[in-house]
Amino acid sequence: LFAPARLNSRGFDLRDPLVLARIETARAPFATHQWQAAPILAAPDASEARAPQEVVNPARPNDRVGRVALASGADIEAALEGAGSWDVSPATRSVILRMAADLYEDHFGELFALLAREAGKALPDAVAELREAVDFLRYYAGFASAEASRGIFACISPWNFPLAIFTGQVAAALAAGNAVLAKPAEATSLIAHRATQLLHKAGVPVHALQLLPGEGARVGTALCSDPRVGGVCFTGSLPTAQAINRAMAANLSPDAPLIAETGGLNAMVVDSTALPEQAVRDILASAFQSAGQRCSALRMLYVQKDVEERLLTMLHGAMDELRQGDPWDVSTDIGPVISAHAKNGIDEHVTTARDQGRVLHRLRPPGRGHYVAPVTIRVGGIEDVGREVFGPVLHVARFEARDLDRVLGAINASGYGLTFGLHTRIDDRVQHVDKRLAVGNLYVNRNQIGAVVGSQPFGGEGLSGTGPKAGGPHYVPRFRAVAAARRPA
Ligand code: GLU
Repeated sequence: LFAPARLNSRGFDLRDPLVLARIETARAPFATHQWQAAPILAAPDASEARAPQEVVNPARPNDRVGRVALASGADIEAALEGAGSWDVSPATRSVILRMAADLYEDHFGELFALLAREAGKALPDAVAELREAVDFLRYYAGFASAEASRGIFACISPWNFPLAIFTGQVAAALAAGNAVLAKPAEATSLIAHRATQLLHKAGVPVHALQLLPGEGARVGTALCSDPRVGGVCFTGSLPTAQAINRAMAANLSPDAPLIAETGGLNAMVVDSTALPEQAVRDILASAFQSAGQRCSALRMLYVQKDVEERLLTMLHGAMDELRQGDPWDVSTDIGPVISAHAKNGIDEHVTTARDQGRVLHRLRPPGRGHYVAPVTIRVGGIEDVGREVFGPVLHVARFEARDLDRVLGAINASGYGLTFGLHTRIDDRVQHVDKRLAVGNLYVNRNQIGAVVGSQPFGGEGLSGTGPKAGGPHYVPRFRAVAAARRPA
């Protein structure tokens, strides 16, 4: 009677050698495949030439993954003109989104290959990402409702979850009945293109879902400044979210919704009652998994002074066991960061810390490719971190028990409020922290990444985002685009 109507994807058990063999076999045909992506439009306008762009593997810059033809101004106009809402019953929308989930699962070999070669995702991350994408499709399918929205929604997605977040945004906007214009991150257009093809194959009509690969400054700006767009969903950096907000305020209907999920300066507190082995395992996953390229990732670790030395010794020992390398290798824990540009930005931060003598422990990066080695850096507190460093960089500070409220105050003062981790055996402390901290997701005695769709709605407070939380019951209802305003003459 109380069984849930929907089950999360079963995923793949990577400890099972048979499962691993099945994955390797399914992925093998795509080891050197080159994908092609271009805008997908209801009524293509071939008049303007598109700039093609080469896509290379961030782990092996001489591995060519494919080519992307970026959307031109004419493409953007054609997409806006060709957009039409998905006029079928909610039940049909729901079934088609679920069929897309099945198709994603059927294509796991190709999707894992793409996630490794275009996005640098180690296999455990690729598995988790496919599961999350499938979960979003099935979960949001359950929210298709009779009062369909009749507008155009722009969905602007990031490269760090090129399948899951791309799919989550699009599925939510479609479930609500919108026509969707999807603008994926430049770095991961091939994955978005393949996902869009699968959604179309499942039965989503092209006029209801068009794809506009291209640069944020061009495609994103054009969409967020066009009064025909009735709502925007964005996941990415805070400055971009603020620029979108300004562009929408100046050009779109004032009631057009913006659903933005931005970054975080996520902290964890480990007190002297925590189980050290468990805390170390969870710190490792929170800070370094996905090479730290999650907005949920742990950036600022506070350890109670009494246990700090022991905990850091264990943590640094455990870091030495992490295997960095090519995501194609199934034993890799940590792959590269997304690009040379990303690597340079992170390296600069680490070099400054090193020059100031604040690096506590650092691995060596492997070979060529855009690798950043996991590192711990000593700081006085979150106020010394300053900005979100989107990589495997963990800042560490110590605190005394009597100063806990000061630590919580400093975390709140950062303005961000996405995830927080607490390791303690004191129940009252959990309540105490929960009352004082303004964060979206508070995790106790576990890691602070990998929110599960349907059971751990994910999203932040303050500078971390507008809400509603992704993967939760309030998400789809917010995707009500306002009807197209007339373009000013
Ligand atoms: N939902 C992801 C998690 O819980 C993070 C999403 C993001 O990085 O944007 O780890």
